[in-house]
Amino acid sequence: VRARVMEVIEAPNVDYADIGGLDEEIQEIIETVELPLTEPELFESVGIEPPKGVMLYGPPGTGKTLLAKAVARRANATFIRMSGSELVHKFIGEGAQLVRDLFQMARDKAPSIIFIDELDAVGGRRTHDGTTGSAEVNRTMMQLLAELDGFTDRGNVRIMAATNRIDMLDPAILRPGRFDRIIEVSLPDEKGRDSIFKIHTRKMTMDEDVNLEEVVKQTEGTSGADIKAIVTEAGMFAIRRRSKSVSMEDFNKAIDKVMHKETSTEPPAP
Ligand code: ATP
Repeated sequence: VRARVMEVIEAPNVDYADIGGLDEEIQEIIETVELPLTEPELFESVGIEPPKGVMLYGPPGTGKTLLAKAVARRANATFIRMSGSELVHKFIGEGAQLVRDLFQMARDKAPSIIFIDELDAVGGRRTHDGTTGSAEVNRTMMQLLAELDGFTDRGNVRIMAATNRIDMLDPAILRPGRFDRIIEVSLPDEKGRDSIFKIHTRKMTMDEDVNLEEVVKQTEGTSGADIKAIVTEAGMFAIRRRSKSVSMEDFNKAIDKVMHKETSTEPPAP
């Protein structure tokens, strides 16, 4: 049971080149997470300590997990993911012990990157309404803070966390020496969507009429995960026609389906 709450990947297969529209975020992660693992002597000679914990925040499906996996790969580090919401909802009574196990495993498998997803489930502002399980959640969170504070390994274990709701986090968790570097991962703009579409259509056979620029224009407000879904759906529409190549029409239908748009091409009912 315990194995399921933690996902351990010795060598993640995501590279920075597979992540679109997050060049500045990648640069920041290289400096704060990758370099402390690969060139710790840089920090030693300058005489500063790298940030202990890096917090990624932003809407779902924008690439936070991809960033953590890609930096683990670049640094040849083991990637250890733990889901904050599973921790408190599926493993009631075990949260604090699991947090201890997580940090122990990270030290055993070092160099490693701990990635805690949905941190707000554990590190949410303390509730005063006596919600069931909140004492348990607090114990889990206290253990997490204790592990962060007691953390002396300078170089070879790095901690990243992700949340969709930074406003919901207990301010204690963002204090200096804890998750004190905050990186926003927002929805992609036009240029970002363009590179994400290019990444996900790299292996796709497309008709000449496919105008990705137009597709990018029509998909304002989508996340990287939505874009991946649009590309897959477009491929499915082509397969349904038994076509080996994806058409612009397939893309238009896929956009409507994923973005829940009304199909305006249909004639009005008589
Ligand atoms: P959540 O907050 O829901 O956990 P997340 O921000 O961690 O989301 P990911 O798991 O990294 O999102 O993204 C889900 C999938 O969407 C990825 O596996 C990838 O296929 C696609 N995706 C998301 N963002 C990007 C991006 N910036 N570039 C390329 N693909 C992306």
